[in-house]
Amino acid sequence: MNSCLFCSIIKGDVKGDIVYQDESVVAFRDIHPKAPVHILIVPRKHIATLLDLEQGDKGLMGDIFYAATRLAKDNGISEDGFRVVLNCGPGAGQSVYHIHIHLLGGRPLTWPPG
Ligand code: AMP
Repeated sequence: MNSCLFCSIIKGDVKGDIVYQDESVVAFRDIHPKAPVHILIVPRKHIATLLDLEQGDKGLMGDIFYAATRLAKDNGISEDGFRVVLNCGPGAGQSVYHIHIHLLGGRPLTWPPG
């Protein structure tokens, strides 16, 4: 857990472009944005992947998605539409093993993703 990049951003040991935080989640801009708005929303609690969720984490996932709706509105992408993505495991391209959702918007988003 000590070497977790997102834990380090949450603690302030690594600089992040933080756009929102509360008692349970922190949101910051992705360092390699794939859309004009690309924000990562992460729980303060270290959870490696979606498969590591425990019963007691169900409310936390609601906090994460609720933060996404607030950020979509605050960043002007709620009316045109936006996407939230959660990659789980190597086959899905997860590269940071601290659970997070991507909030993407500000351009047309094709489907299906690659
Ligand atoms: P995933 O591939 O779903 O695990 O997403 C991890 C995301 O973290 C990628 O989109 C990276 O661009 C992003 N990322 C990696 N390092 C940083 C960082 N220091 N600050 C912000 N975003 C980062």
